[in-house]
Amino acid sequence: VNLPIHEAVLGRAAEFGDAPALIDGTDGTTLSYEQLDRFHRRVAAGLAETGVRKGDVLALHSPNTIAFPTAFYAATRAGAAVTTVHPLATAEEFAKQLGDSAARWIVTVSPLLDTARRAAELAGGVREILVCDSAPGHRSLIDMLGSTAPEPEPALDPAEDLAALPYSSGTTGTPKGVMLTHRQIATNLAQMEPAIDAGPGERVLAVLPFFHIYGLTALMNAPLRQGATVVVLPRFDLETFLATIQNHRITALYVAPPIVLALAKHPLVAQYDLSSLKYVISAAAPLDAGLAAACSRRLGLPPVGQAYGMTELSPGSHVVPLGAMRDAPAGTVGKLIAGTEMRIVALDDPGKDLGPGENGEILIRGPQVMKGYLGRPDATAALIDPDGWLHTGDVGHVDEDGWLFVVDRVKELIKYKGFQVAPAELEALLLTHPGIADAAVIGVHDDNGNEIPRAYVVRQPTAPDLTEAEVMMHVAERVAPYKRVRQVVFTATVPRAASGKILRRELRERA
Ligand code: ATP
Ligand code: MG
Repeated sequence: VNLPIHEAVLGRAAEFGDAPALIDGTDGTTLSYEQLDRFHRRVAAGLAETGVRKGDVLALHSPNTIAFPTAFYAATRAGAAVTTVHPLATAEEFAKQLGDSAARWIVTVSPLLDTARRAAELAGGVREILVCDSAPGHRSLIDMLGSTAPEPEPALDPAEDLAALPYSSGTTGTPKGVMLTHRQIATNLAQMEPAIDAGPGERVLAVLPFFHIYGLTALMNAPLRQGATVVVLPRFDLETFLATIQNHRITALYVAPPIVLALAKHPLVAQYDLSSLKYVISAAAPLDAGLAAACSRRLGLPPVGQAYGMTELSPGSHVVPLGAMRDAPAGTVGKLIAGTEMRIVALDDPGKDLGPGENGEILIRGPQVMKGYLGRPDATAALIDPDGWLHTGDVGHVDEDGWLFVVDRVKELIKYKGFQVAPAELEALLLTHPGIADAAVIGVHDDNGNEIPRAYVVRQPTAPDLTEAEVMMHVAERVAPYKRVRQVVFTATVPRAASGKILRRELRERA
């Protein structure tokens, strides 16, 4: 694991040879492992010729394409740290990230070039914008950025040098630049591997974005390291997603709860042959056990497994091992991975360790904990204590066997008259109503200054007359009185981040 990330991931690429590494799910263009290996070296040479040096930050601004991994590993091989950018970011948002990360280079795709240019103008400091396209009709990545010059060999120290500078999702505030070294990312891949072994012959569907740490890890680094085939889609659209599973005989899905919801509930699902699937794993946000069960029942699969982590953990600490999917308790996010420690401490007293069954804040310590937030020593110190424990800000508990259950974020808990109510629990309950297509819950203050749960509810097209009273009754019949939903607002959509997380912050602003 003390290797640069491109070596840790592509070390066996030559061995996998002609096996398909990446397939464009839209047009079928295929990149073999041999090509991925050769192309990323040629592009690294091209980047070095352009002037990319060790220690530079390179912004990779692209939706999922089969060229994305080539650009990523080429940049790290040239010595750069890659900061991945949301392809739908506005020029202003992109400029902020460029300024914060002090990026000197941008790699983008033709359709996003105008945004990249405006962002670079706003931020200043960018030396060059490079375009890398993979779609047929465009020149290929290698034609655009490759070079026959000798490969660059920057003296990388995997333990110190940054491989990636992803930004956290911004669910709770402004996204923070997370400094991850080569070794931290490589270590986490190795820690996860015994649990999720997806070797040659496995086909994973990359529909979650590569720019987010979850997609970057589960859909790019891990499968490419193991010799699997990654079928790439640029965005989530349910019909295309289902058709791609069917046509490419996808074996494994790594998704977030909204996709589990669609798989469990959407009528379209029944029209496709999804029999190639062997398992589904969800992460990034709380997944209700009932919803997970409905999904796996409908698809005839073992229970949906989960993984848990955060950008700051490179990104994982827990996973349900594939071999334990059938026996793991419903709703668990998994067991602690090797080389990692956990504590669960009282919310009101971080010095007090809690036992099985007791909810508290989850603390993690291990070699995958980030180096720090870029340019924010104060925020880093607030997150990681002097003993190396990272305070996740998430609430959860373990059972007697060590399975972890995540309840919600500490900050999202609604304090109703001294009781604590987890919005995620109410959201899950709401979704069990046949007339509810989607739901989100936040705490708002009523006229008496009490914090109360308010539900934002999207009606199913089949239930246009669903009333507030019906929604409140549905919850009231199933929970202790203090957990009742006290207000209902009907809405057209629930705001979500690209990684599938509910943006409760936006709902609070609306409120
Ligand atoms: P920001 O830190 O910028 O506010 P964020 O925390 O959403 O955004 P990420 O690093 O993408 O940014 O997400 C990590 C968080 O996602 C965790 O702290 C946790 O709240 C949530 N999470 C991840 N996996 C799970 C899971 N399996 N179940 C419940 N929550 C999860
Ligand atoms: Mg966070």
